[in-house]
Amino acid sequence: MNKGILYVVSAPSGCGKGTILETVLKNNSNIFYSVSATTRLPREGEIDRVNYFFYSQKEFQKLIDEDGMLEYAFFCDNYYGTPKKQVEEKLAQGFDVILEIETNGALQIKKNFPDAILIFILPPSISELRRRLNKRRTETQEVIEKRLSEAKTEIMRAENYDYIMMNEELEKAIVDFEAIIASTKLLRNNNLNKIEEVLNNA
Ligand code: 5GP
Repeated sequence: MNKGILYVVSAPSGCGKGTILETVLKNNSNIFYSVSATTRLPREGEIDRVNYFFYSQKEFQKLIDEDGMLEYAFFCDNYYGTPKKQVEEKLAQGFDVILEIETNGALQIKKNFPDAILIFILPPSISELRRRLNKRRTETQEVIEKRLSEAKTEIMRAENYDYIMMNEELEKAIVDFEAIIASTKLLRNNNLNKIEEVLNNA
């Protein structure tokens, strides 16, 4: 059986990646969404083990010490990381997996998993990003400013990604994302077994 494809998606906060991924995951039942661990406090409405594994600093560090993280990073005053076990299991079972992570973690993944597909979602502009973050009303003004400054650093790293798309209009962004999935499925490395199959099935 083929191993699943590992997708890594990054976008500055407020870019709408959550909404895009929600639809993509609904339309693609073979894709597993990796739930991250974080030391950040839950926002209103967020559920432990659904949105994140909300860990104390000590619990998070324990997982790192046990070599239980695929990658991790410190971002805007908190730790975020991908628990290794669930991702490795799903990939081995042939499921594709999506990691929704920031750029430091994404680049660690690319180094350790060269076949991973990195997708960066750009906002139409920084001012539009500011407008969206203000509208969301989940962060204080201070946190918003910090995230906007972080967004610029993140956008500069987009050049290291395999695909770059923009979320200007949601419908179009979903079509673009699904086109990336379709194109990745046709990559040479993901189809070498088919050559054998055809040759052996004369
Ligand atoms: P938020 O606090 O808005 O949920 O997430 C802040 C940033 O952390 C986002 O860019 C998000 O993609 C990223 N993030 C979420 N989970 C992980 C993870 O497991 N690893 C890394 N490196 N970043 C993550």
